Amino acid sequence: MDHHPYKTREGGATVTVFVPYDCQNHCPFCINKQEYADCSGFSLAKIIDSIRTMDAITPRCDFVFTGGEPLANLDALQQMLDAIPATHKVYINTTFPVQQHTSPEEMIAFTERNRDKITCMNISRHLQKYVEEGPDELLGRIACPTRINCVLYRNYPAHKLVDYVERFLPYGIPIQFRYDYTATTPENLYEEENDKILQDLRRLFTYKGLDGCRMRNGFHFQYKGLHMTYHKTLPYSTIVETDENGVTYDILYDILIKQNGDIHSDWTGVKMDVEGYRHVVFEPYDLHVINGNVDF
Ligand code: SF4
Repeated sequence: MDHHPYKTREGGATVTVFVPYDCQNHCPFCINKQEYADCSGFSLAKIIDSIRTMDAITPRCDFVFTGGEPLANLDALQQMLDAIPATHKVYINTTFPVQQHTSPEEMIAFTERNRDKITCMNISRHLQKYVEEGPDELLGRIACPTRINCVLYRNYPAHKLVDYVERFLPYGIPIQFRYDYTATTPENLYEEENDKILQDLRRLFTYKGLDGCRMRNGFHFQYKGLHMTYHKTLPYSTIVETDENGVTYDILYDILIKQNGDIHSDWTGVKMDVEGYRHVVFEPYDLHVINGNVDF
């Protein structure tokens, strides 16, 4: 065993599935793109086997589909969704892409068919446009709950933030702003004074409260009734900690199913010891409200 015994939160670590097909885009902050350069070894069947393995170990964990572009192959996505029992929450990270082979109507119909399976569709719409975007009206027609994800990357145009938020008000879609998480460290995760994004958001919108855990946090804001979050997370997902009995654990927050079906215990290329995870120790989830109100 080249790792400490595993510990995770009640219910199990979130399982992120990398779909075995790519997107058409080249966003400058993308850290997944290089993994799609060579698609040999990608296997839908092996991914589905690994989904079943994770369901058997933690029947109530959350699943997240990411890519690549989950909606680029609705057939394959349907097969993966169908492998996940209703005990799990399921999130899909997508650009809700403009694509030649699949019409917007087909994508909307997909959300209607799967509205009971999809907990939330997280749709990337950045302040600067990196991808061809379909009309916003389309997002208002998605049948499952939706959220907008917006990476505030490097020298983002802060003066455009209010107009940007106004865009989504007619549809009442909450927005999650995100820090470029490759730049997050344990030291700056909760640091507020020198965080330019936080200062911009505090200036423009109404600050409501903060929740967080060892790994990530959310600063919550409101604007004309719309709920917005500024989310920061560390670039890895394992925390090594020794408990009061002197036992050192690898505390897992995210588990990944890679495009070839391999299961990893971190974003940093570490393969998971699946047999070890069958004996994982659970702790209460350490996410808690730190100040104010985050539920509004
Ligand atoms: S759409 Fe997503 S996966 Fe594709 S390049 Fe942009 S960030 Fe990367």
